[in-house]
Amino acid sequence: MPSVTSNNLIPAAAYVFDIDGTLLNSRDAVHYFAFRAALREVFAIEGGLENISVHGNTDPGILRAVVEREGKAHEFEHKLPAALALMRQEVERNRAQLDPELCPAIEQLLQLLRGQDKLLGVASGNLGSIAWAKLEAAGLRHYFSFGSFSDEAELREQIFRRAISTARAMLTRASHNSEATICFAGDTPSDILAARANHVPVIAIASGIYTRDQLAAHRPDLCLACCNDLL
Ligand SMILES: [Mg+2]
Repeated sequence: MPSVTSNNLIPAAAYVFDIDGTLLNSRDAVHYFAFRAALREVFAIEGGLENISVHGNTDPGILRAVVEREGKAHEFEHKLPAALALMRQEVERNRAQLDPELCPAIEQLLQLLRGQDKLLGVASGNLGSIAWAKLEAAGLRHYFSFGSFSDEAELREQIFRRAISTARAMLTRASHNSEATICFAGDTPSDILAARANHVPVIAIASGIYTRDQLAAHRPDLCLACCNDLL
């Protein structure tokens, strides 16, 4: 197997990865059916996620978009905790059906970065328990020392900000380096914008639904068709 080189990567002490479309793509509908269950049982909405922008969105953001589309915005805030609890429960109940496909060469990249003692984390719009379940099913859980998710933050920008403060604290504790670079990797324009809003570098990887050209238009610091570009 050819080895990944990091010569072309943005140098950093910590790398924080988005999950869906960046580390893996789900071949199952476990997460989707958890949305459907929460919408049906908590908000009495039978429809699905049609016409809702899910890529680069967050779990609470997706629920909000559907609830507003159905004219039930006034119910959203007070019912959200029950909806999120039900989603976590549904994914846990069906976790044996999780069937993630790893993005090309991603595990080689993670191995390389771990071999260089980089701090690795995830920052995702998933709820935390759903994110960890997907990573475990993908065999990637053990690479990551921390995660930032949508349980307490609906906006990706906030999720990234929390990831940065966690990474910053861990790096400072480990090496007393409070200035180290923390680099993000994601597959959507939302990842690029969230990194920009937090003034940190970002690698865009076109392993989700966006093409390299679509991502490049948002001027990430590095833009890859997939991690095979690093082989
Ligand atoms: Mg993604």
